Amino acid sequence: MTEEYSLGFDLGGTQVRAALVQNGAVLQRAAMLTDVAGGPDAVMQQFKTLADKVSRGLGQSSIKSVGIAAPGPLDTVSGVVDHIPTLPGWDGFALRDKLSALFDRPATVENDGVAAVYGEWKHGAGRGLEHLVYVTVSTGVGGGVVVDGRLMHGRRGMGGHVGHFRIAPDGPICSCGAVGCFEAFAAGTALGKRARAAAEVHPQEYLGRLSQTTRIESRHAVDGAREGDPQSLALIREEAELLGVGFTGLIHLYSPQKIIMGGGVAKAFDLMSDDIHAIIRRDAMAPFKAIEVVPAALGDNCGLVGAASLALSNS
Ligand SMILES: [Zn+2]
Repeated sequence: MTEEYSLGFDLGGTQVRAALVQNGAVLQRAAMLTDVAGGPDAVMQQFKTLADKVSRGLGQSSIKSVGIAAPGPLDTVSGVVDHIPTLPGWDGFALRDKLSALFDRPATVENDGVAAVYGEWKHGAGRGLEHLVYVTVSTGVGGGVVVDGRLMHGRRGMGGHVGHFRIAPDGPICSCGAVGCFEAFAAGTALGKRARAAAEVHPQEYLGRLSQTTRIESRHAVDGAREGDPQSLALIREEAELLGVGFTGLIHLYSPQKIIMGGGVAKAFDLMSDDIHAIIRRDAMAPFKAIEVVPAALGDNCGLVGAASLALSNS
């Protein structure tokens, strides 16, 4: 246990967020829309503003370290941004050094999926485990891996891009440019697309009726399934089966004690759990069939908590 405070930041294409973290608990949190047009200099000022907000009343000296979770692939050895598709103008930006200079203390830069698995491992659903995989299923599919009681980083700190292995020879084009990635099939975006297609085919059913006034997204299929709509239930079952296929691959690769699922689609975890586990029991090799998938405990705080906690452990 520690009395020390740490600041965690999350750099997203839509939102920038900050949290004051102590012992893995978020004490204060603030967010604003990312100033995409302003580029990195404007966004660094946003982080300063957010930091002032969440640490108001604290002496500057009580904050030991700052950590940031950013979209990957990000070279966390050099701390320099390579390329973030949602944030133009950041290529070559020395994120770690700039952050460190801005706050005059050591800074840690981490891929968002790696920060999230650290948060869940130390303070969430993965506490006490030696081997775990965290998978976030939202706009994309991302995550991170803990093996042998250590965070897996890989070359240049870019390991654990769990959404980008191919699960079929043909399929939708992925955000990464390849075809048939786990992400391209199973992300919330893909579920939303299937839900819109279903609405078009059956205009008189739940999704079809809703589509007359609303753009159908993945969450509408979740709502429909909760209402007992057969088409929505079929979409959610299909989503669960795709997740089961991807998770089975990850279980074989990393031999985790558990898979932790987070992200927006995990809000429907209760609806999907049985079908996810049925696929794992069907497809996994014998010693892996009983591996459990559990929902994340920290929600959308896991990247912030992970980044702040990692920064503290590095300082
Ligand atoms: Zn991909």
